[in-house]
Amino acid sequence: MDLKLNPSASVRHQLENWNCSMNAHLVESTRVLPNELEFVVFSAAPEINPSKQSGHKLMPMTINGIGTTYFGRKNIREYVGMCEQCQSHGKLTDYETGHFFSIIFIPVIPLGRRQIVAECAACKRHRAMPLKQWQTLREETLNAGLADLGENMENAEKALKLIYDMTVFNQLAEANELAVVCAKQYENDFDVMIQLGSWYEQMGKEVETEKCFSRAIEIDPKHPHSQRIQAIQAIDSQKPQLAAQFLDSMRPGSSAYDPSLFLLFANALQEADLHEQALQEYQQLIKQAPELGADKVFRKRVKLSEKIQGTPVTMLPKAGLFG
Ligand SMILES: [Zn+2]
Repeated sequence: MDLKLNPSASVRHQLENWNCSMNAHLVESTRVLPNELEFVVFSAAPEINPSKQSGHKLMPMTINGIGTTYFGRKNIREYVGMCEQCQSHGKLTDYETGHFFSIIFIPVIPLGRRQIVAECAACKRHRAMPLKQWQTLREETLNAGLADLGENMENAEKALKLIYDMTVFNQLAEANELAVVCAKQYENDFDVMIQLGSWYEQMGKEVETEKCFSRAIEIDPKHPHSQRIQAIQAIDSQKPQLAAQFLDSMRPGSSAYDPSLFLLFANALQEADLHEQALQEYQQLIKQAPELGADKVFRKRVKLSEKIQGTPVTMLPKAGLFG
């Protein structure tokens, strides 16, 4: 499990969309989509501008009322995650639907049922596959997972994998039962507590999330994951000074360094009127993630603290340099 954020990735997106989840990166790293899913990419005008990326299909769309469309939604699963297309952190939806050829916006010719996976609320892009194929894949995956766990009852990894597979295939009641058993069986296992906590967080179960993360912190309070969770909790409850203690071991140079976490921290300092400290953190962030210097929201924050502090020369690079 790698918690380190790739600083060259679109830091701006990750920062703007960071919703203070306890451990967003963990959640992402555990969401595995079956390879068999085809990529569906939206294109604004398919006839004029056909998708050049091979293997990428166009989303259903109608032009002057003629084209293809999805109609109806069944077995809906909504969850929070990162869109693999636009990288925004937000609501994703899985559902079954009918794919139709439509004329004047009325679905007329059925093209078969489809399973939609991870439809992004922001950009609407998603993955899709024929429903039959999806059901076969579900059966094969879950049967194999159950058999595997049956032969390795003491193997936490197999249990966790099955929980995630059950989740991907929308077998949430079963996933939940297995998670409860797992939480008990592995209550002294740090990694399991972190992974289960992340899973519960993804499921929107706050009480269980808190329980698993607290247990992990009890087991190994100095572990970078524990420090990170506590730092975010402290920032979340507007205690930036407390957060600073946990962040000390995660400063640049440490493998646990994550600029998005320090941006959260810097903003919390600013909101607590600790402008001098906030500016120190902003300065460090510009050094570690220079692309931030071009970010409008970030620039506004820096300017505000500089104004209050009466800083004569701004730390910000000239806006023009970044176009
Ligand atoms: Zn998206």
